[in-house]
Amino acid sequence: MSDDRFPIVISGGTVVTMNPAREVVRAEVVAGGDGSIQALLPPGSPLPAGAREIDATGRVVIPGLVQAHLHLCQTLFRGLAEERTLLRWLRERIWPLEAAHDPASLRASARLGIVELLLSGTTAILDMGTVHHTEQLFLAAEASGIRYTGGQALMDAGWSTPAGLLQPTDVALAESDALRARWDGAAGGRLRYAYAPRFVLSCSEPLLRAVAERARAGARVHTHASEQQEELRAVQAELGMTDLAFFAQIGLLGPNLVLAHGVWLDEEGLAELAQSGTHVTHCPASNLKLGSGIAPLRELRRRGVNVALGADGAACSNRLDAWSQLWLAGLVASVRDGPGALHAPALFELATLGGARALGLEDRIGSIEPGKRADLVLVDLSRHAPNGDVYTTLVYSARPDDVRTVIVDGSVLVDDGHLLTLDEAAVRAEAVAERETLLGRADIESAATAGTP
Ligand SMILES: [Zn+2]
Repeated sequence: MSDDRFPIVISGGTVVTMNPAREVVRAEVVAGGDGSIQALLPPGSPLPAGAREIDATGRVVIPGLVQAHLHLCQTLFRGLAEERTLLRWLRERIWPLEAAHDPASLRASARLGIVELLLSGTTAILDMGTVHHTEQLFLAAEASGIRYTGGQALMDAGWSTPAGLLQPTDVALAESDALRARWDGAAGGRLRYAYAPRFVLSCSEPLLRAVAERARAGARVHTHASEQQEELRAVQAELGMTDLAFFAQIGLLGPNLVLAHGVWLDEEGLAELAQSGTHVTHCPASNLKLGSGIAPLRELRRRGVNVALGADGAACSNRLDAWSQLWLAGLVASVRDGPGALHAPALFELATLGGARALGLEDRIGSIEPGKRADLVLVDLSRHAPNGDVYTTLVYSARPDDVRTVIVDGSVLVDDGHLLTLDEAAVRAEAVAERETLLGRADIESAATAGTP
């Protein structure tokens, strides 16, 4: 990060504020040396003394995009787990590959993912780590400047879990608690911890109850639920109920819980989510590619459930940028509920305020308002002209390489399309090399021939 702790003024741009009135205004955005947004001033206002000016003429200034479900540990696995449905995808590829990670490969995977995210305007993420070496994820996030909430994946039960990922319950919890003590609130509050029980089939009831206790005491929790019908049948066979019914029974649902997917929700599940204030992260690319289905987005929002967006991992959606998710969210909503069921401003909210709420950071990010952190993205939408209104252009036309400038906590991380905090070429070279050695360690052939669950 830059240490230029002087005010930044972004001048001449059109600002999509996402404030309560959803104003889109011409304004100069002033970010203070403390990394907060200080003011939106009328165009042409005199600059504060010593301010650095960023010319946004012809550009659109948006809140930094937020993705509330990612797996940075899987960026190295892109293209290695194709043409499988969820349970085979996990058992035959993802888990053996995750078990093969060492600190260097996990670092490379995280750095590659963060490069892609920052260059395309995602400034804040909720990440599910893997079981081991979790500190590498936080170290990569710390160095890159991205706003990161993440945590060690918890796997203490046996549904096809490889030995390399299976941990005793007390060890898994103790490691998570120690990571939380070390990282939650680090880097001036930019790094946060979230407990991450992977999904109900890989977690014991005592583990989930212990996590629920921590959630009730204020901890963030991030898990997967109700993603695919085959998965739900396995859950039903093991627990005699749906995953959401089980989470409700043990007191895990609530405003500190973020559930990825929520594709297959029954009436009770929908009601439980709404009543408990649980957040759902919609992952349309992952759901389409793994053939999981289309989440009931309009119904979730109609009931007042907060919905965020996420790319999931590179091994299932192959693209990590938020623009692909926004575009697909709009398209699949049209297929499921009809064109216009979700308007473009509501879709754009998923990737900004929806994500901020899921992270528990709605008082800090998700909109451009004085007092919030200066997480800002400048996009050049000129190649899409002429077009519809700005939200329509952002949702349906914008692309990752429209992003020109990215600021997090008042620090410029991407300047004119160039990442300042990491050496992009070195990160890509490191990723290629680390994937080679990781594949040498991974036992994916024998996993592929093991029995089905
Ligand atoms: Zn996931």
